[in-house]
Amino acid sequence: MMLGYLLARAGVDVTVLEKHADFFRDFRGDTVHPSTLEVMHELGLLEDFLKLPHQKVTSAGARVGDFELRVADVSHLSTHCKFVALMPQWDFLNFLSDRAKRFPSFRLQMQHEGVDLLRDGATVVGVEARSPEGPVYIQAQLVVACDGRHSTMRPAAGLQVQEFGVPMDVLWFRFSRRAGDPEDVLGNVNYGKGLILINRGDYFQSGLIIRKGSFEQLKLDGLDMFRQTILRIAPYLGERAGEIQSWDQIKLLTVRLNRLRSWHLPGLLCIGDAAHAMSPVGGVGINLAIQDAVATANLLAEPLQRGQATDAMLARVQERREFPTRVTQAVQANAHKLLERVFEGGDRPLKAPWQLKAMARVPGLQRVTGHMVGIGVRPEHVAGAARREPQPEWSLKKAAVQAGALLGAVVATIRALRG
Ligand SMILES: Cc1cc2nc3c(=O)[nH]c(=O)nc-3n(C[C@H](O)[C@H](O)[C@H](O)COP(=O)(O)OP(=O)(O)OC[C@H]3O[C@@H](n4cnc5c(N)ncnc54)[C@H](O)[C@@H]3O)c2cc1C
Repeated sequence: MMLGYLLARAGVDVTVLEKHADFFRDFRGDTVHPSTLEVMHELGLLEDFLKLPHQKVTSAGARVGDFELRVADVSHLSTHCKFVALMPQWDFLNFLSDRAKRFPSFRLQMQHEGVDLLRDGATVVGVEARSPEGPVYIQAQLVVACDGRHSTMRPAAGLQVQEFGVPMDVLWFRFSRRAGDPEDVLGNVNYGKGLILINRGDYFQSGLIIRKGSFEQLKLDGLDMFRQTILRIAPYLGERAGEIQSWDQIKLLTVRLNRLRSWHLPGLLCIGDAAHAMSPVGGVGINLAIQDAVATANLLAEPLQRGQATDAMLARVQERREFPTRVTQAVQANAHKLLERVFEGGDRPLKAPWQLKAMARVPGLQRVTGHMVGIGVRPEHVAGAARREPQPEWSLKKAAVQAGALLGAVVATIRALRG
């Protein structure tokens, strides 16, 4: 959606296909980081965007066994917003699509599911989509696959994926929040598991980090045991553990960490999760996808306007974005190793290692992690055609009508004077 917005703003004809009828999905992460908010500022959208309901988070902490520490702090960043905005993805997507629809070259086609690529020899020249009216064939100078971690387009293209092993899955659910509960994001690690509590105003978005593939066993152990597990890790939740009454309230995120070797073919580019599925560590998936979109628009908007987006230019998008992706995934993989140690500790009370206690005392470390999470590696800034203030069609039309009216009035006055 962000790429669609940016390209349309630069005057490129763009069609966004979305397979669902709306953007209202299960929880998929609500974190809009300072780097994304900075992009919104550069586009002149920030003020209106922040009028949507959201919570502001400036720091994240963790309780490891009985030891408490501050993990990340974004309040010092040099960006306009020194906080992470927590906002449901559907609000973000509806906001962007509403703004994009104001550009005449933007089209959003809901309930259009891309099912295959159209090719001319080795070059991708469009997509076949399934719609309520039957199959649709859309020709395009460039197809950008932004269809997420379960991308249909990347297997259709035959692009090779590198999978990196991941030791964990995450279960997402909600608990009500009360006065006196922690304000910021809090990770609780104990008894062989991790519980993340994200302040969403009147409720906590909660994620239980479990050993990969162990969800079925947890279900067999029963809901009572599940509630006890939660209470052992975060006793202050008290009787709120009882709010979990059914497994339907719990959504499994099967965590994956992977990356395409090549993100492009002639006529096709993959970005976001379709190019690199991220782990939830740091909550950076949305922001990496946005950064990919900005880099793509910066590099391709003008060539696309001229009809000259070559494969070499698509390669430049990968060159630009692969480095930040690799670094972020490497950091996530290291965090996974620490989690593996927690899982190995089993169902026993955890004792925080001395290394962690020593690290917590290093001055400024929270700021470094805050920078890594809030801004990330190689932040993108909107440039080129998408950066320029667009001239909405209606104002041009209005100007033309006004100029015509003025000319008519001048001619009528001259005629009247002559007559
Ligand atoms: C449970 C969960 C929790 C997460 N928590 C966080 C978090 O806290 N912070 C964070 O930053 N990230 C989080 N993530 C990851 C984050 O959601 C993704 O990294 C991010 O949304 C990737 O953006 P994207 O645009 O590449 O793909 P997506 O957001 O997955 O968007 C893909 C879109 O394409 C549509 N689509 C799919 N296939 C087709 C098709 N064939 N044709 C047409 N449309 C199609 C989908 O409906 C969807 O709207 C979480 C993910 C999950 C699943």
